[in-house]
Amino acid sequence: NAQNVGFIGLGNMGSHMAFNLLKAGHTLCVYDRNDAAVLSLVDKGASKADSPREVAEQSDVIITMLPASSHVEEVYTGSNGLLRSSRDLRPSLLIDSSTIDPQTSRVVAAKVSTCRLSTNARRIGFETPIMLDAPVSGGVGGASAASLTFMVGGPEKGLKAALPLLHAMGKRVVHCGGAGTGSAAKVCNNLAMAISMAGVSEAFALGQRLGIDALTLSNIFNSSSARCWSSDTYNPVPGVMENVPASRNYVGGFSCQLLGKDLGLALMAAKETGSPIPLTTQVHELYANICQKGYSHEDFSNIFQRLYQGEPLH
Ligand code: NAD
Repeated sequence: NAQNVGFIGLGNMGSHMAFNLLKAGHTLCVYDRNDAAVLSLVDKGASKADSPREVAEQSDVIITMLPASSHVEEVYTGSNGLLRSSRDLRPSLLIDSSTIDPQTSRVVAAKVSTCRLSTNARRIGFETPIMLDAPVSGGVGGASAASLTFMVGGPEKGLKAALPLLHAMGKRVVHCGGAGTGSAAKVCNNLAMAISMAGVSEAFALGQRLGIDALTLSNIFNSSSARCWSSDTYNPVPGVMENVPASRNYVGGFSCQLLGKDLGLALMAAKETGSPIPLTTQVHELYANICQKGYSHEDFSNIFQRLYQGEPLH
């Protein structure tokens, strides 16, 4: 069933996700503060709006894919934001796929639930509009191939209504619980990913100095207890695997800057909940240092090169 979808945030991820919705036959109205990103989608068949508020006036479902919490707050509650379209809201379902802090996801979802549906809203069984936090894993490759994994927080009936759209952009959808739990899952995933990447890099650097060839060590790891995504899918050592950022000078992939943002979210969440996070604190500092040295746009597996191979960072 084709739906009127509004899409805001057409960057590295959002541009592909929006295009996949168009390919699945949905009608798309787009907005981004970068005009070039908007025009590229308009060329493919989308219509454009001049503000989030205008998107809301034309859409039954909204999807946002923005850099960070402040951008999500602005797009939802700013002076030309989604929730300012008029007194009542036309979209009954709002899906935020940005990686942001769970607290912001909960606060914005609560604001959405205090809105009323407008008379021209497409009624899909909700009394009030529902917002889901639905961050993704799978990177730009997954966004382009429509094979993302969605981690979803929010009411079950909202998730049920969102499924056809999520399946046009991804392969797996996991319901994590109430509002904010999708964001929480994403923050925890990236925390563990960063620490394991640092651990694998440290072990390979030591191994090389002990005279073990990286390829041999990766074969050992991948059939032993050190096996993990950072060793068998995204190995940080140049030449060990083809088609990973490490084998193309750490170009493309997931930037140190974005990972640094996500580790910052983990620190914030740990503070709010009183959780001890000694390893996250240390890895956050390592990546802050890598960014300061001018490598913030490189893929985060560059920690192998920048921390252990080149000039010392400290
Ligand atoms: P990006 O910076 O490439 O894209 C963000 C887009 O949002 C840009 O086009 C920007 O112009 C637009 N934007 C920013 N503020 C806006 C505003 N107020 N109004 C309208 N448009 C605005 O980022 P991305 O790589 O597409 O990532 C988006 C989100 O997905 C981030 O939260 C990121 O952490 C997460 N994520 C990224 C990846 C990845 O591999 N790149 C993977 C998983 C999750």
